[in-house]
Amino acid sequence: MPTSERRGGAPTTGDRRPPNIVFIMSDDHAAHAISAYGSRINATPNLDRLAAEGIRLDSAFCTNSICAPSRAAILTGEYNHRNGVTSLHDTLDADRWSFPKALQQAGYMTALIGKWHLGHGPGVDPAGFDVWRVLPGQGHYHNPVMLEAEGRVVERPGYVTDLITDDTIEFIERQVTTSPDQPFAVMCHHKAPHRSWEPSRRHAHLFEDETIPEPETFDDDLVGRAAVVQAARMRMMDLDPYLDLKAPVPEGLSLDEEISWRYQRYIKDYLRVVASIDDNVGRLLDVIEALGLAEDTIVVYTSDQGFFLGDHGMFDKRLMYEESLRMPFLLRYPRLVEPESACDDIVVNVDVAPTLLELCGVETPDHVQGRSFVDVLTGETPDDWPTSMYYRYWMHRDGAHLAPAHYGVRTKTHKLICYYNDPLEEVGAHGPVNPVEWELFDLVTDPYEVDNVIADPAYAEVRAELVAELARQQEAVGDEPYPRAEAALPTHGA
Ligand code: CA
Repeated sequence: MPTSERRGGAPTTGDRRPPNIVFIMSDDHAAHAISAYGSRINATPNLDRLAAEGIRLDSAFCTNSICAPSRAAILTGEYNHRNGVTSLHDTLDADRWSFPKALQQAGYMTALIGKWHLGHGPGVDPAGFDVWRVLPGQGHYHNPVMLEAEGRVVERPGYVTDLITDDTIEFIERQVTTSPDQPFAVMCHHKAPHRSWEPSRRHAHLFEDETIPEPETFDDDLVGRAAVVQAARMRMMDLDPYLDLKAPVPEGLSLDEEISWRYQRYIKDYLRVVASIDDNVGRLLDVIEALGLAEDTIVVYTSDQGFFLGDHGMFDKRLMYEESLRMPFLLRYPRLVEPESACDDIVVNVDVAPTLLELCGVETPDHVQGRSFVDVLTGETPDDWPTSMYYRYWMHRDGAHLAPAHYGVRTKTHKLICYYNDPLEEVGAHGPVNPVEWELFDLVTDPYEVDNVIADPAYAEVRAELVAELARQQEAVGDEPYPRAEAALPTHGA
C-alpha cells in the first residue's frame, strides 16, 4: 500500500512517548458472544486476554444501532443528526472533522484497513488516513476485492478476516521499520461477523456436533410490547434459508422445531465467524508484543453495535434493546489502565474520539459532542459523569426488517423508548406513518426487557422523570423531539 508523506511533529504527552493506537472494530459483534462478557455460547480466548490485560466497559452503548451511523459517530464524535449520517445510505463528507484527521495533523501515521461503509469516490473516500485499503460497501467474506486511493482495485485471494489482519500487521511492521519514532494509529475494521456469516474453511466445522444453548428470551412472544416491534421482521422465521442458513429447511418439522433448527444454523455460522475474529486478534496481539510495542500501544476492541443472538427470538440489531444497544469495548494501555479492570459507567460511541485524542495528547475541538472517558478508564470517574444516554434510530420500516423509527433514553436503571414511527423526510425511511407507541423497562427487576411498564401506575413517577430526562438529552445534543410524541403517552393503568 502506498503511503503519503508525513507532516508535522509528533504530539507530546509529557515525558511519555505518544502512544500508538490499534483500533480493532468488528461489525455486529454482540458483547454476549465474548467470554470475557460472560458468553454462555462460545469462548474467545484472545479477546479474553485483551480484557485481562486491560479494562472491560460494561455499559458502552451506540447512539444508533446500525453500521454506517455508528461508524460516523465514532469517527466524528458527533451524533448522527449532526454528522449527517443518519442511515445506511448516507456518506461521510471527506471535509468533516474526524479523530484520525486530528491525529494525522498532529504527526501520526494513520491507516484504515477493512470495512469503511461511508461512501466511495471523490468527496467521500476515507479522509485523514495516510494509508487506506477498504472493502467496497459490505465486501465479501471470500476472495474480496479491496479499494485504495485514486480508485485502485486490489484483488485479494483468501478469507477477509485474515486479510484485514495481514494488512494491519504489514502496516505496523513497515511503520516500525521505516519510521520507528513516529507514532501510528491504525483502524483495523473487520467485516465479520456481519450477515451472511460465511465462515473460513478452518472454522467451517466448529460446533458441528454441539447444540448451542438458546438465550433466556428465545421464546419471548413480545406481548405488551409496541405493535411495531411485534411487526418487525427480525425473528428466526425471517432468516432466509438460502442466504442465511445455507440449507433447505428439513421437512416434517413442527413450527417450534423449525425455529430451533433455524437458530442452530444461524448461531453456529455467527460463532464460527466470531472465531476468525478471535484468532486474528490473537495474531495481532502477538505481533504487537514481538515488536516490543505493547507498553506504548493502546489496543481497542469494539464493534459498531451489538446484535440479537436469538434474544427475544430475533436476529439483527436496530432496536434499542440491550443486546443491540451494547457495544463490546475492551481497551489495553499498560501505562495508564489497570489490568483486569471493569467499569459500569455509561459511555457512548461519540465519546471514543475525544478519549483517544486525550490519550495521545491531542486536543479535541469544541464542536465535538462526545466527552473523553479517560478518567473512567483509570477508575476516577468524575462526579458529574453522565448517568444516562440518548439513542435514535431513523430508518423507519427500512428494507426487509421493517424496524420502526424510535428514540429513547437509558439510565443505569431504566429505559424509555418512544417509537415515533414516522419516516419524516429521512433517506432510507419509508411509510406508512404508524401511531406513536412507548415502552418503559425496569432494568433492575427486568434485565431482559420483557415487561413493558409504560402504563403501570407504580412507575408513574419514574416515567415522568424519564420523559423529562429524554427531553433534557434531546435539548443537550440538539435533536428535535417528535411533535406528537408526549401526547401519545398512555394513561396509567390503561
Ligand atoms: Ca454493524
